[in-house]
Amino acid sequence: MRSIEQIENIKGKTVLLRVDFNVPIKNGEVEDDFRIRASLPTINFLLEKGAKILLITHLGKGLSASGGMVADLEPVIKRFWEISKLEKDKIEFFDNIRKFPEEEKNDLEFAKKLSKMGDVYVNDAFSVSHREHASVVTLPKLLPSYAGFQLEKEVKNLSRAFHKPEHPFLFILGGAKFSTKIPLIQKYLELADEVFIGGALANDFLKAKGYEVGKSLVDDTNYDIKKVLENKKLILPVDVVVKSGDKFINKKVNEVGKDEIILDIGNETVKNLALLVEKSKFILWNGPLGKYEAGGAKSTKEVLKSVLNSNTQTIIGGGDLVSVFSSLDPRTYKLEPNVFVSTGGGATLDFLANGTLPGIKALG
Ligand code: ADP
Ligand code: MG
Repeated sequence: MRSIEQIENIKGKTVLLRVDFNVPIKNGEVEDDFRIRASLPTINFLLEKGAKILLITHLGKGLSASGGMVADLEPVIKRFWEISKLEKDKIEFFDNIRKFPEEEKNDLEFAKKLSKMGDVYVNDAFSVSHREHASVVTLPKLLPSYAGFQLEKEVKNLSRAFHKPEHPFLFILGGAKFSTKIPLIQKYLELADEVFIGGALANDFLKAKGYEVGKSLVDDTNYDIKKVLENKKLILPVDVVVKSGDKFINKKVNEVGKDEIILDIGNETVKNLALLVEKSKFILWNGPLGKYEAGGAKSTKEVLKSVLNSNTQTIIGGGDLVSVFSSLDPRTYKLEPNVFVSTGGGATLDFLANGTLPGIKALG
């Protein structure tokens, strides 16, 4: 992967810059411009070198998935100019790239057409780099191509998880969809010293151990969980918060009733986890520990605070976990430089599991 710092002679040339400005839009306004702001260092650098920029992004779902209603980039462009205040004659936007079905089909002719619009390609869209789409994996093969600062930063930080991490190394895994997280569990049972499982994933383990999980969310995948249960590194909740009728009750894992729903990990488990956090030198955390959208956010917030206030090297990733993180009051913690918050959802998971992504490999 070559850095944009290695580009030579781009004065007057046009850079096709793939960014991810797929931001939430509400009532025609951008709700959160985090992703737009994250691209500014790369944009400023390229402008300083005298380049012109054609920004390529997607917004929302493509033609088939959106039923033909592809989102309009207008609110994104408006917000971009509000926060960047850059020279308007040097930057242009390409249309929402997912307006063209060829993008998601990874069509070669489409990529060739795109390549004619510029001289150099730069990927600064880590969060779409797991997609085999034309502007992500084929376009970079047709032009001299480089990694933007944001992509580099993600790769550098996330790689710490599998490239000589400090020990003790604690891996915290929550969220749902057990089947999608199996590769991560397998990999980090080898690399980490302790693997704590929370969220709906813990339900699958508790069930496999023979506990009653009532009406809790389980995945029922074919995977042989019993084998993982034998692993000494595995740590499961000792208590949980269940929803029983309209009450929330903290219960030991062996006390869950047939009609109850596990929504969060319990108080004692949170305390144990905080102790583990304290003695760890490296923490990798993906996925919330409870159903945070439905009254199960408490443990995730508490553990996030103990992680953020510790001096431990930490990587936080996953769309849902990062959204709980963003909901924290910034006055309740200090974000130290030892904490890295990944911008990718699926891309982060794939990178942590495989050590690379199709869009990164394509940069050659
Ligand atoms: P991330 O986006 O951080 O990788 P996932 O997408 O894997 O996380 O999982 C997030 C989902 O897991 C959320 O919708 C959350 O409500 C759900 N979840 C977590 N714990 C539970 C639980 N105990 N019961 C049901 N859903 C849960
Ligand atoms: Mg998610």
